[in-house]
Amino acid sequence: MRILVQKFGGTSVAGLERMQMVMGKVKNALDSGYKVIVVLSAMAGETNRLLEMASKWSDAPNRAELDTLVVTGEQVSISLFSMLLNDNGIKARSLLAWQIPITTNDDYGNARILDIDGAKLRELLEIYDVLVVAGFQGQTPAGRITTLGRGGSDTSAVALAAALRPDAECEIYTDVDGVYTTDPNIYGKARKLPKVAYEEMLEMSSMGAKVLQIRSVEFAKKYNVPVHVRSTFSDDPGTLVTQEDSSMESVLVSGIAYDKDQARVTLRKVLDKPGIAAGLFGPLADAGIIVDMIIQNTSSEGHTDMTFTIPQKDLNRTIELMKKVQADLGATELAYDSGVVKVSVIGVGMRNHAGVAAKAFEALKEEGINILMISTSEIKITCLIEEKYGELAVRVLHDAFNLHSQDYEG
Ligand code: ADP
Ligand code: ASP
Ligand code: MG
Repeated sequence: MRILVQKFGGTSVAGLERMQMVMGKVKNALDSGYKVIVVLSAMAGETNRLLEMASKWSDAPNRAELDTLVVTGEQVSISLFSMLLNDNGIKARSLLAWQIPITTNDDYGNARILDIDGAKLRELLEIYDVLVVAGFQGQTPAGRITTLGRGGSDTSAVALAAALRPDAECEIYTDVDGVYTTDPNIYGKARKLPKVAYEEMLEMSSMGAKVLQIRSVEFAKKYNVPVHVRSTFSDDPGTLVTQEDSSMESVLVSGIAYDKDQARVTLRKVLDKPGIAAGLFGPLADAGIIVDMIIQNTSSEGHTDMTFTIPQKDLNRTIELMKKVQADLGATELAYDSGVVKVSVIGVGMRNHAGVAAKAFEALKEEGINILMISTSEIKITCLIEEKYGELAVRVLHDAFNLHSQDYEG
């Protein structure tokens, strides 16, 4: 049995006409001899609408109930789409996560997939030509409903394809026709990449490129599932996210990522002694808050300043936690700022080349953009800068590395 998992995002299912276009993609796959698993998101804007609704009911909504609320968006999409397929003579049925099941841990709002019953899906595919699965959702072993984090339908799709290896392939359909050198909605000169290595895509996603949720790329890499990113609204072949090959290494920089969802927190004059970093970051880790960049200043008179970045949505919780530990750490002041953004230069080719960082810093300097924090990995350089310079920095770095041209620097 050849199985194609096709995932369609919120804009692709935002109304009847769009769902008819989605049906066109499904029909093409059926005509090519595949059984199809369609994974759908909620209609565009629906998840936000539900989250806003919850915030009117409660200042701190119960996380399990919040998940039970927001999964309804996907249920609407899968039932409507299944009706459409049935009316067009296609043997299809909808499936919620618990009906498969897709089992997750109980980290509500950000749950991790533990298991998917692939045998059940295969059985159903003997009966139906198309299974229409609700993305973004799972259930705990105890049977409570969970969600996989914003953008989580990508992860549902890749995880389903991984569970049906080696028979399944995976396509992610969205509102752009592939993965670009940077967000094409920010910079018109962005160029579509025919291929991206898993590792590059991991860095792009974790540094803000929301075209694929980071966990979907982790799954794809772990289980070696090639992922095709394509547009619902064109026939373009799109971008293949796959294992690194030698042609990719010859390219110095493959993309610029941009993340607005950042906040910076500083604790001034914390005591400079063993255990301080653990005392500061331990409570954040326990609260599931992901700390990204960290700077500890040089010590003076037994004190030092600690600065770190976190996702903006976690700022209030972070401030509350820091207020609790501030006295123990001896910190005299707690400062924070959400007017910052992260811009990253990414490419596997960087491993074997010196000078990429210097070139990036020079380009930012030319525009008078001040760098607040820097972090690097083998294949990435990230700069934290003031929010007002964010989009300018993306354009400047894109130009500095000639990413708009086919035969760019390498
Ligand atoms: P969907 O609703 O289909 O899941 P998303 O909005 O989550 O779609 O992701 C698609 C969006 O990702 C695009 O509209 C684009 O603005 C953004 N994006 C960010 N970085 C990139 C990139 N490097 N290449 C393509 N799209 C990107
Ligand atoms: N509907 C969910 C969201 O808006 C999941 C998804 O679209 O992937 O985050
Ligand atoms: Mg998405």
